[in-house]
Amino acid sequence: MNVLPTPPPGTILADVHAHLARAGAPPYRYRQLVLALQRGAQRFDDVGELPRSLRDELSARFGPTVLPLELVTVRSAPQVEKVLFETRSGARLETVLSRYRAGWSSVCVSTQAGCGLGCSFCATGALGLSRNLSADEICAQVVHRRWQSAAAAAPDSVAFMGMGEALANPNVFTALQLLTTAGYGGLSPRRITVSTVGFAPSLERLTREHPQVTITLSVHSPFPAQRAELVPLERRFSLAENLAILDCHVVAVRRKVYLAYLLIAGVNDSDDHLQALVQLARSRARPELFHVSVIRYNDASGADPSHRAPSSERVDDFVSRLRAAGVRATRRQQLGASIDAACGQLHARSLLRDRRPS
Ligand code: SF4
Repeated sequence: MNVLPTPPPGTILADVHAHLARAGAPPYRYRQLVLALQRGAQRFDDVGELPRSLRDELSARFGPTVLPLELVTVRSAPQVEKVLFETRSGARLETVLSRYRAGWSSVCVSTQAGCGLGCSFCATGALGLSRNLSADEICAQVVHRRWQSAAAAAPDSVAFMGMGEALANPNVFTALQLLTTAGYGGLSPRRITVSTVGFAPSLERLTREHPQVTITLSVHSPFPAQRAELVPLERRFSLAENLAILDCHVVAVRRKVYLAYLLIAGVNDSDDHLQALVQLARSRARPELFHVSVIRYNDASGADPSHRAPSSERVDDFVSRLRAAGVRATRRQQLGASIDAACGQLHARSLLRDRRPS
């Protein structure tokens, strides 16, 4: 590909692209820059293919670094690496790289600094929202040089499951565009998962603009009143409204979607919950395309101290009974519990600790 597509507006690449065009630079200069970034260059000055004068000009105009994240700390556990980044404005966010035994790797990115939706089980929600991350800040988590040195290759897949509600941030759509465009991220949309607690208008947009992206909708309770306690967004956009969007989506594209169910002891693990969840899954437009992903609540992760983790056996039993009732269901693999590896926990917990009166 000799000439790269014009990058989407709202990214530093779009600004650089426009600047080079205005300055009369030949198109291959821009391509050289993008290729160097993909090889791990972080600063304009690292791009030796560009003339010194052009590197200086770009640095003077856009700042020395192309990627807007500085690495703060890294925590590692078998198969998992968790990185705390800081943006130029001082916002902190977490990214988690998981390497699976089957030989592939996945990076879980944050989309917001904090989150304003206040789910009762989530440490990030207890922080409140600082701001949406920019498309550059989201994409930089995927292509950061850290992964190139720590793993043999760039991540095979990307999950928008870190800090923040992805679909509450419109910049996520710009990031998706950049990550899936040939010559830039070049990722198959099928290797991208977007997780949401149910931001219905943006969910509908996602199914329209990126129909091949994998979707995970958080259910957590089949009962609206209880779900509203766990996921307050239920009061604005109900689970029923979100499921109706997914019903249309699976009929149109025949792609599997996931229903996430965080199992919390004594809260949503009763027989009544199980039966209602079975009913909810089996009454979908194409039930065979709805897959329930059961996640064990982690005591360490929550904002609500009354929430407790169920036993591992209880989780397995819940999954077995869903299957016995004809629902496609699995238990989600959770790597790195010892380092709070569910996205958002490390930073959120440290901030919550700092806020508590001593
Ligand atoms: S679960 Fe997601 S949407 Fe809910 S508070 Fe946490 S980050 Fe926000």
